[in-house]
Amino acid sequence: MSKRLIVAIDGPAGAGKSTLARRVALRVGAVYIDTGAMYRAIALWAIRTGIPLDDSHRLEALAKNASIEFVAGNDRLLLNGEDVTEAIRTPEVASAASEVAAVAAVRRAMVDIQREIAARASVVMEGRDIGTVVFPDADVKIFLDANSEIRAQRRADELAEKKIPFDLDRLRQQIEERDSRDRNRAASPLLQAQDATYLDSSRLTPIEVEEEILRIIRTKTSNGKALVH
Ligand code: C5P
Repeated sequence: MSKRLIVAIDGPAGAGKSTLARRVALRVGAVYIDTGAMYRAIALWAIRTGIPLDDSHRLEALAKNASIEFVAGNDRLLLNGEDVTEAIRTPEVASAASEVAAVAAVRRAMVDIQREIAARASVVMEGRDIGTVVFPDADVKIFLDANSEIRAQRRADELAEKKIPFDLDRLRQQIEERDSRDRNRAASPLLQAQDATYLDSSRLTPIEVEEEILRIIRTKTSNGKALVH
């Protein structure tokens, strides 16, 4: 079997990570993993069971007991066997996710699952700490960014498409609060790895960003040409 490939894509909310990671995974024949969905699932469970988002001990127990599974080409997420793919997409769950993600023990439990997945397959994994903490030796590291107006508009478009109600001003505020919490927390803050390539997607189409990431993968991997279809 050829060597497994690990592509880490980090960046703030709405930078386009999910769209791009999914497309790039298809192109290189790797598994796409949305690690934000895992923190969202823990947050959803905490909300449903009434666990306060600052109760790190109970959140740790929740994270350790959670069964989190990606199914159907990794497009669906099961939490304890229940399909929560749609339920985790609300702005409220997103905000709660960034609170539970600040708990170091919750992160450890999620990182264990992420590393297990990559031990079995080539992955394109997106999140906040993939290139810095989860896979410091990833073959390729991308830090995907975009200006805050565009990021809020992209999230708004996604919610509108999924018919999830939102208020644009409040959404903008929630994204700013979430990014600030993600950047300033003690445990694995959102930060560009020193050896990551910075890409600003503000003025680029998804196809342009995809081609740029594929170009970086080809340059960074010795057998990249064979990998990228
Ligand atoms: O990527 P997404 O916006 O779905 O992530 C939701 C939240 O999960 C983020 O705001 C962040 O707090 C947390 N997260 C994280 N580390 C990751 C992925 C997501 O802390 N690797």
